[in-house]
Amino acid sequence: MDGRFSLPVLGKKKRHTWLEEARNAVTTLEAMERQLELTPSEREGARRALASGFPMAITPYYLSLCDRRDPSCPIRRQCVPRAEEALEVPGDLRDPLGEEAHTVAPELFQRYPDRALLVVTDRCSVYCRFCTRSRMVGQDGGARSVERLRPAVAWLRAHPAVRDVIVSGGDPLVMSTARLVRVLSMVREVPSVETVRLATRAPVVLPSRVTPGLCRALRRFNPLWVMTHFNHPKELTEASRRACELLADHGLPVMNQTVLLRGVNDDPSTLEALFRGLVRVRVRPYYLLQADPVRGTGHLRTPLATGLAVMEALQGRLTGIALPKFIVDTPGGLGKVPLLPDYVVSRAPGATTLRTFRGETVTYLDP
Ligand code: SF4
Repeated sequence: MDGRFSLPVLGKKKRHTWLEEARNAVTTLEAMERQLELTPSEREGARRALASGFPMAITPYYLSLCDRRDPSCPIRRQCVPRAEEALEVPGDLRDPLGEEAHTVAPELFQRYPDRALLVVTDRCSVYCRFCTRSRMVGQDGGARSVERLRPAVAWLRAHPAVRDVIVSGGDPLVMSTARLVRVLSMVREVPSVETVRLATRAPVVLPSRVTPGLCRALRRFNPLWVMTHFNHPKELTEASRRACELLADHGLPVMNQTVLLRGVNDDPSTLEALFRGLVRVRVRPYYLLQADPVRGTGHLRTPLATGLAVMEALQGRLTGIALPKFIVDTPGGLGKVPLLPDYVVSRAPGATTLRTFRGETVTYLDP
């Protein structure tokens, strides 16, 4: 793999680098209209996105996965804005995880004692319509300068209880490799930081970004975990498979967080296909996340009962390495809560009756 690929959706035979592709992302209604048969709601959504602070961008690669005619296409639902984004429903929040209230230094959020999240850019190659940080991505500033990040690194030095740093954004992989290496070096120079996680959707939306050169640069920072974000089996293409396998071949573990989204993946068979496909390319399905109550995403969210029903259907049917935890990130940034279907039928002193995935009951006796 040389970081080059063709752009079938644009009808070009020429091969392009990831940077050329990122620069060719569709960002206007007129350009999108040339690629997709838009509905009135999508047209209105695109107009609104251009006017609002949360922009639209779709890489030619990701656009090539969209169904040109079908607005219910699960890829299209993730990246094409809709008029419903203007609606607010009860529970909607601008900053659902309370990140602003948990800011401990410029660009650094801390919500748990042992970890912190560093925002290194506000840019993404695709702006996902369910994004938890829609309040700030694509706004202004782009990649954060070394000078701007210095206070955050100083804070990490002064707080050795933080052992895990999530380098996030935006998508850090829209930055140049040289700039990313400078940022990772600063974080790695903090002696108390044991693990670094790189949060990126590049393997899903811009797989050409994952080149041997990038992987060689990243592996210098091991243990470095790549946290990615596949939501539908249509995203498991030959190109994304190559990207994931290249990361794994360079000793970079890849974990996946799927967001449960209405009309995209809210049924057991879609998620079973996704999770099985991920483990085949050595990506561990790590979390199934209840979609955060981000302002303007009510049309994409599901009730909690949907996630529980999916987990119940997959338990026992799917190998344990492919089965993620179902997580609700509580509004206000109070932390993640794992939810499980209820398998306890009754409790008595020393004896608990459980329900198995086949529906049989069995009593477990304490020693
Ligand atoms: S890539 Fe991540 S930060 Fe960027 S829009 Fe998508 S979910 Fe948000």
